Amino acid sequence: MRVLVVEDEPDLLRVVATTLREDGYAVDTAADGEDALFKAKAWEYDAVVLDVMLPKLDGWAVLQKLREVKHTPVLMLTARDTVQDRVRGLNSGADDYVVKPFSLTELLARLRALIRRSAGQSTAVIEIGEVCVNTLTKVVTRQDELVALTPMEYALVELLVLHRQQMVSRTTIYDHLFDEEDDSFSNLVDVHVSNIRKKLGRDFITTRRGQGYMIEG
Ligand code: CA
Repeated sequence: MRVLVVEDEPDLLRVVATTLREDGYAVDTAADGEDALFKAKAWEYDAVVLDVMLPKLDGWAVLQKLREVKHTPVLMLTARDTVQDRVRGLNSGADDYVVKPFSLTELLARLRALIRRSAGQSTAVIEIGEVCVNTLTKVVTRQDELVALTPMEYALVELLVLHRQQMVSRTTIYDHLFDEEDDSFSNLVDVHVSNIRKKLGRDFITTRRGQGYMIEG
């Protein structure tokens, strides 16, 4: 899953970005509202973590302009836990918010839930045949046996599972799994898919030549 983190306070931006990368996300960053809006329009992020107080354009303005063109899930970082901020956030089309200072654990939990909801998955544990994917714990089992996936294999499985019964193009996979600092190359996706099939079964992922990949179950 690829997220954009927008925060002008360098230490906080670094801590949040590092934490999310350690949790398996591809992470792009922006330190002002204009850069944030540019990136959020340019890429299909799974979510945007958006600070309210920002240089150039504040978070509310970014949210408003973004909502004119797309519905990327947005988690606002609000400085004050006031009624006005809550009402304003929800009226402006924010999907959720956390109040500063927040714990990184809370941020991760909210972000995970937000991405799951926006993909139309109401439950955290998704079963496909004999395979079970827990998107909270990132644990995958097959016939109740734990399966060890690499972080990239897990990220790919999660993306396909959240969009099951839909064709996911290679372009979509690159957009969601690699951030702007990652220059890994295309054929790696085939390698990951091949490794996932060895672990979860040949039929777990269907390939549509020239189109992309799909979990049919
Ligand atoms: Ca700020």
